[in-house]
Amino acid sequence: MDHPFDAIVVGAGGAGLWAALELAREGVNTAVLTKLYPTRSHTGTAQGGVCAALGNLEEDHWEWHMFDTVKGGDYLVDQDAAEILAREAIETVIELEHMGLPFNRTPDGKIDQRRFGGHTSNYGEGPVRRACFAADRTGHMILQTLYQQCIKHGVKFFDEFQVVDLLFEGDPAKGGRAAGVVAHRLADGQLHTFRAKAVLLSTGGFGRMFRITSNAHSLTGDGVALCYRHGIPIQDMEFFQFHPTGIVGIGILLSEAARGEGGTLLNDKGERFMANYAPKLMELAPRDMVSRAMYQEIRAGRGIGGKDYLYLDVRHLGRKVIEEKLPDITDFARIYQGVEPLKEPVPVQPTAHYAMGGIPTNVFSEVVRDDKGTVVPGLFAAGECACVSVHGANRLGTNSLVDLLVFGRRAGRQMARYAAKVERPQPIANAVEPMRADLDAIRGREASGESVAVIRKELQDVMMDNVGVYRDATLLTAALAKVKELKARNQKVAIADRGSVFNTELLEAQELGYLLDLAHVTVAAALARTESRGAHSREDYPERDDKKWLKHSLAYQGKDGPTLRYKDVSITTFQPKPRTY
Ligand SMILES: Cc1cc2nc3c(=O)[nH]c(=O)nc-3n(C[C@H](O)[C@H](O)[C@H](O)COP(=O)(O)OP(=O)(O)OC[C@H]3O[C@@H](n4cnc5c(N)ncnc54)[C@H](O)[C@@H]3O)c2cc1C
Repeated sequence: MDHPFDAIVVGAGGAGLWAALELAREGVNTAVLTKLYPTRSHTGTAQGGVCAALGNLEEDHWEWHMFDTVKGGDYLVDQDAAEILAREAIETVIELEHMGLPFNRTPDGKIDQRRFGGHTSNYGEGPVRRACFAADRTGHMILQTLYQQCIKHGVKFFDEFQVVDLLFEGDPAKGGRAAGVVAHRLADGQLHTFRAKAVLLSTGGFGRMFRITSNAHSLTGDGVALCYRHGIPIQDMEFFQFHPTGIVGIGILLSEAARGEGGTLLNDKGERFMANYAPKLMELAPRDMVSRAMYQEIRAGRGIGGKDYLYLDVRHLGRKVIEEKLPDITDFARIYQGVEPLKEPVPVQPTAHYAMGGIPTNVFSEVVRDDKGTVVPGLFAAGECACVSVHGANRLGTNSLVDLLVFGRRAGRQMARYAAKVERPQPIANAVEPMRADLDAIRGREASGESVAVIRKELQDVMMDNVGVYRDATLLTAALAKVKELKARNQKVAIADRGSVFNTELLEAQELGYLLDLAHVTVAAALARTESRGAHSREDYPERDDKKWLKHSLAYQGKDGPTLRYKDVSITTFQPKPRTY
């Protein structure tokens, strides 16, 4: 079935919904396709907050926010984009408030704000209250608010439509323009084409390539992998963030808000060990540093009971703060660990959390395909799947939600401008055939001994053990060989469900292919980058090397794996300096 629209948004998280809202306000005929029900998007699990230099409780300025973002990202941030992020954060958060988002309030009725890692006053002096929040359910409130607004403005939703291919007029690597997508309808397995002038990818992250992750099962990098397969490069894939405080063994997140409200990290001796790593900001240092400090404590035998975890302690915050500001995450500790945070410290360890890399875009959320910023006409990306790059080598807490708002909004506005100028693409002959052949091949394969679950598990293990917080050439070389082996075995993967109705097994096989491609790029880019910067820590190259490596990586799909190229970082205001906190 063919569905003609003017704009298509793939993904109904915060980025996709704000773009769709903007398009609907401009009267553009828009469809949102989402493999999950919109309100189940991962944005809904975001806990701690969304930052904006409102200065409601203490002095703050967007320039300070911009500086923190650049320094937090270890100077790999594009500073023109970081300026836009920090400036427009303020108006987008206020707009959300006007849409009805129930933020926590100060006694005099303003939006309440709390501290978060790496956010400082006066260019690094000390922590500042910049994160706006609705208890520890900020993402949930953002998602509900935006979804309501989209419904109010008549956005059309296609729920449980999983996009499996992108359509172009011409080759996007050589000037071709976006023309739509192919989607698999979960309910009956039918393939549909959606034609449009402008297509936005806002498909979220891909933390599911790691064993221990805060990311939902659905976060498999679909949009990023589909771009890569169509000859569009993907950027900065070697930078993946590990969040310091995941629930031991399962990775479910305990928000940094716990530390923002005054929670501490303790080792086996009961010491606040962060004093030895970041004396000024302590537990509110950026995540890459806190995660490394935790690994070092564990390696030195100071994990709890000599094991591979540490304690997050919120006992001293008292019942009122916990119940008003951290209700959900303290419940997680009770439910998943059987620990009562009011009385006991909570066992935590780093968990794979956020993809700094993704589909390269300019500040209008247009996808670019080379180091010169050449745009792929009609193709846009925003949110975690995109790399604009405001997070550089390490994202600061609360900067993702604001990235969704700012660049989701910009995407919607730019798509509306673009759609007004061009004709709708003509139907493409046999558009669904390549994908139908792929899916039929998986479905028709006889049992081969290779299953999605086993290959995915082996992938997650090698990524966690070899491509985690610390890396070196030996670990990465072994990981590269393993990922190649898994890709070869994946050619033979067979599934038990041959049906067309609700065949989630088939779609998981498809998603495993995306994870394998993205893991391949991550490992190759990490092996090539012989320095340590932000979340990419090479034990064999422990220093940052600005002379050689102050540049973004761009990975193109080659015959036997990724080909790497590089592009300059935009530096407008802040020259790189050593990064201490
Ligand atoms: C547990 C947790 C807590 C977090 N807390 C915070 C926080 O407090 N502050 C902060 O700033 N950041 C936080 N983050 C990060 C932030 O929430 C995410 O980066 C952000 O929500 C991603 O939003 P998105 O719009 O890019 O995509 P998502 O919200 O992940 O949504 C992706 C959408 O894409 C759709 N999709 C994916 N693939 C396909 C496909 N093939 N076809 C159709 N649809 C598809 C999905 O259905 C979904 O609607 C947190 C992340 C996690 C995991």
